[in-house]
Amino acid sequence: MTRWGMVIDLEKCVGCDTCSAACSQMNHVPAGAGWRQVIPLDMPKLGNPQNGRLFLPTNCMHCSDAPCQTVCPTTATFRHADGIVDIHDELCIGCGYCVVACPYLARTITRFDEVYAFTPELLTTASDRSGICTKCNFCLPRVEAGLAQGLTPGVDAAASPNCVNFCIADAIHFGDLHDPASNISRMIQEKPTMRLQEELGTDPAIQYVMRPDYTGMNGTAVELVPPRKQKVWHKPAAFNFILGGTGAAVYLLGLWLDWLGVPVTEWYKLLGPVLVGLGLLGLTLEAGRPFRSIHILRGWRHSWMSREAWAAVLFMPLAFAEWIWPHAALALLAGLAALAFLISQGFIVYRSRAVTAWNKPVVLWIMVAASFVSGAGFFLLAAALFNQTVIPYLAVAGLVSVLVQGGLWLVYLRGSGDKAFGLGTAVLRKRRSLLVTVGLGVVVPLILLTGILLVDLPPLLLGVTAVFGGGAVLLGSAGLKAQLILQAGYLRGIQAGPVQT
Ligand code: SF4
Ligand code: SF4
Repeated sequence: MTRWGMVIDLEKCVGCDTCSAACSQMNHVPAGAGWRQVIPLDMPKLGNPQNGRLFLPTNCMHCSDAPCQTVCPTTATFRHADGIVDIHDELCIGCGYCVVACPYLARTITRFDEVYAFTPELLTTASDRSGICTKCNFCLPRVEAGLAQGLTPGVDAAASPNCVNFCIADAIHFGDLHDPASNISRMIQEKPTMRLQEELGTDPAIQYVMRPDYTGMNGTAVELVPPRKQKVWHKPAAFNFILGGTGAAVYLLGLWLDWLGVPVTEWYKLLGPVLVGLGLLGLTLEAGRPFRSIHILRGWRHSWMSREAWAAVLFMPLAFAEWIWPHAALALLAGLAALAFLISQGFIVYRSRAVTAWNKPVVLWIMVAASFVSGAGFFLLAAALFNQTVIPYLAVAGLVSVLVQGGLWLVYLRGSGDKAFGLGTAVLRKRRSLLVTVGLGVVVPLILLTGILLVDLPPLLLGVTAVFGGGAVLLGSAGLKAQLILQAGYLRGIQAGPVQT
């Protein structure tokens, strides 16, 4: 079976960027996007005392274990039998999940409002690609058309990708990685080559001809491109994690109180789904193509974002039905859907493989714990105003969840990782951040909630303490999620793998 791939000769590339210009022109790449980058690398910074520069052309690596594909909630991203990873434009909703999963910085989403107006591309051919994710497809239509004419991709120009044809230095070569006699297989056998991010196990289809002494790495990985802040998930995404998580946890805590036989007003059965719905609405507004959002339900087999959506669309009507027709079976099903929603949210963040400050198992549990914390805080605030009998129970739930969240947070901040993890968590370790996440989110609630449990407070003081305790819990937990999503999201840098000679 054919597997299309590339060999790029770093000894030949002169950094002229002609390949990028040709790619954008021939593929009608939307304004503001770029399917290729040619990145200058200073040799001394790479450990080579020799002055000078290397140029690293990059594009989608057409990974055989592609993180972008496994997270895509709509199944827009898929892999052809010949190994080319492609996008069904009409299914993509521009959610950006693939962008924070791709460890090669290969994907872009452009929006009309983010590029300067009236570019020729916008006005002519690329407007249907605005708001969705786009990336290199190895010029697949050209390759297929060439094959249909009996031509050989990589040998015949009419069947080869545009970057290969336009490279002025003959640095880019295309062919079949699985054919030992192909042009690129022979290059790999004859020359020293390396692949990027080898340690991630994505099996990229692009190899680079590179002398080991160029970087002084001699078998060790070297960072070629530094980490950069992710720019696809903004406040609406954080809003969804905060509101949705709080809503699902409010519902579960209400069920727990019901199960204990504590007289609890029924409002939580509506408030939970309403908060989840508002969170999803915020997220939908951030998607590049919100009116196609129904496609998010297609990818449930592999994508946690799709599973989150499924959990939400099951949870909301089930909770509403249970409010109208109270029944233990309905309550159980709605509770299970709420739990699935919370766990899916944790997995969404954890499975973002390009963001190393998120791609830690402990982050999954921090997200779940923080939802219970904010749920308890929200419930406490409401209980202080409407139903003080449940305050001690909520104080216990708040204390337990705050302790779990605080413990996990400290474990997370003491952990180690690559440069992107260090950059992301450095922000979270700053005093101002700790004042919110630990001071407001742990210390203040510990004092106030313990006071509620140990001191026999008069009703007015009990209500005031619950308001302040609940408010601190809610703000601390919301601040933690917001900072994790908005501040710590650095995309990992690109590393050269060991050179194979
Ligand atoms: S390089 Fe990125 S976009 Fe391309 S297949 Fe790999 S993970 Fe997906
Ligand atoms: S639907 Fe989302 S994850 Fe899938 S290709 Fe589009 S932006 Fe990427």
